[in-house]
Amino acid sequence: MDIHQKEPREDADWRVYVLRLNHRRERDKRITTHCALVGRAFGALGMYYSGDQDEGLETAIKNVRINWGGAFSVQHVRNPVSFIKDWKKSGGSVVHLTMYGLPITKISELFQSTDRHKELLVMIGASKVPIGYYRLADYNLAIGHQPHSEVAALAVFLDRVFKGSELENEFENAKLRIIPQEAGKKLLRK
Ligand code: SAM
Repeated sequence: MDIHQKEPREDADWRVYVLRLNHRRERDKRITTHCALVGRAFGALGMYYSGDQDEGLETAIKNVRINWGGAFSVQHVRNPVSFIKDWKKSGGSVVHLTMYGLPITKISELFQSTDRHKELLVMIGASKVPIGYYRLADYNLAIGHQPHSEVAALAVFLDRVFKGSELENEFENAKLRIIPQEAGKKLLRK
């Protein structure tokens, strides 16, 4: 299965995919699922992950897609280093989110200076990220310089990329849709 969506999204300048590094099936199952949920909800088109292959994770996200629509899915990559090299060879850019990186406020000048097309892979770690990934990335960006969470870092990053427009994304073929309420819950089922 190749999760790469060939058709560009007309409503977005950037086509963003997440690369979750070194997933550990037991320890990270909830947080990696949250990375995928946040990626999907905040405008990424799919998530690759390295480390342990995890059918439970892939099924959980498939069920979200079936109920809530869209085409977001997750795909395991065996060799993340060659995956990143291939991504760059085919013209995409690579951002690594790390508290050691340049401030996220640099995002617009960094992005304007890229001559690559707007296909972006955003890497987030689980355990300690080996230094080689810092060198492979085109940009190492910090969401503040305090340690926090890959889930938070990803959400803030995507929101900066899409400038808030991602919160209005509609997902095709959704079975479930929320009708916003001042108080209470209203869910439309198709
Ligand atoms: N201790 C690990 C290290 O030294 O690489 C980081 C673990 S942290 C819980 C997991 C991931 O959250 C990091 O790899 C990074 O992608 C993200 N992260 C945490 N704080 C961040 C920050 N201030 N800015 C950007 N990303 C951050």
